[in-house]
Amino acid sequence: KNADIAMYFSKRMGPNMFSFYEQSMNADALKRMTIENHLRQALGRGEFALHYQPQFDLVTGEVCGAEALLRWHNWELGNVPPIEFISIAEENGMIVAIGEWVMRTACRQTRTWLDQGLPLQRIAVNVSVNQFTHTDFLNMVKSILEETTLDPQYLEIEITESLLVKNVPETTNILHALKKMNIRIAIDDFGTGYSSMSRLKEIPIDCLKIDKTFVDGIAIGKRDQSIITAIIAMAEGMNLRLIAEGVETTGQVDFLRVKQCQEVQGYLFSKPLSTQQVEVFFQKAFSL
Ligand code: C2E
Ligand code: CA
Ligand code: CA
Ligand code: CA
Repeated sequence: KNADIAMYFSKRMGPNMFSFYEQSMNADALKRMTIENHLRQALGRGEFALHYQPQFDLVTGEVCGAEALLRWHNWELGNVPPIEFISIAEENGMIVAIGEWVMRTACRQTRTWLDQGLPLQRIAVNVSVNQFTHTDFLNMVKSILEETTLDPQYLEIEITESLLVKNVPETTNILHALKKMNIRIAIDDFGTGYSSMSRLKEIPIDCLKIDKTFVDGIAIGKRDQSIITAIIAMAEGMNLRLIAEGVETTGQVDFLRVKQCQEVQGYLFSKPLSTQQVEVFFQKAFSL
């Protein structure tokens, strides 16, 4: 396909354009390679950090938890957003070690906050499919919980809906094992992954996160509104918590409140914050 495009350019614009196209292809490949090389050293160099985005209960008006989000600052590349490096880390397997660092850091931090008396209900940690299906995943989580002495009920693992579609028996077993350990499970980006109702019934989930695309659509019209309404009704019927993601406007909040979606997360309430910033935020929110 790339060759077709190159051919198209060379026919239409002459050989100079062709080489221009080739160069930009190489630039992409080079960027990817550069990211991959730096990523290899990132853990050892301590280049990762977690930011935390608070989650709010619309009924009580209080902070109920936060989602841990990975940040990478490299000395040469600067800040590299997760969308640019997570998929690379998933492809080359580095996500296993990075994900373990994320889990340990989030659990240790949560334990510290609880010790400080912050009445947090939970911290959500994103877990990739490749990490999830890695043979050591359960033991990794178990030993981090022991090491940090964090009560498992404070940990919520976010998996994407697409994980439910493939790998059926394996995934179901791991999810049940996590549930047995008293860890909570949330389905991220819900509504985008085409999982079936019967699949949802098989697995022990606690929470659905309504994808931002539907929240964005609230202002646009009836279609997205009715999808959200249906998701809310389903969550209620299945006794699941519900979080609307990517909430940016008061109009969206009004709609979600009327429809009785209990929890929200988004720039309107707070962007993801550094550890120090979120600590200040929590202290104000809990007026300590
Ligand atoms: P996600 O799990 O769906 O996370 C939500 C993303 O939306 C975050 O982007 C967050 O900063 C952003 N966001 C939150 N509220 C708003 C809003 O109101 N408006 C807009 N426009 N955006 C909002 P971020 O931090 O860049 O992360 C992107 C994705 O990278 C995440 O999507 C997740 O899939 C992945 N990711 C991030 N951290 C980790 C991690 O520790 N492990 C794994 N496996 N994946 C991670
Ligand atoms: Ca997430
Ligand atoms: Ca999401
Ligand atoms: Ca996402």
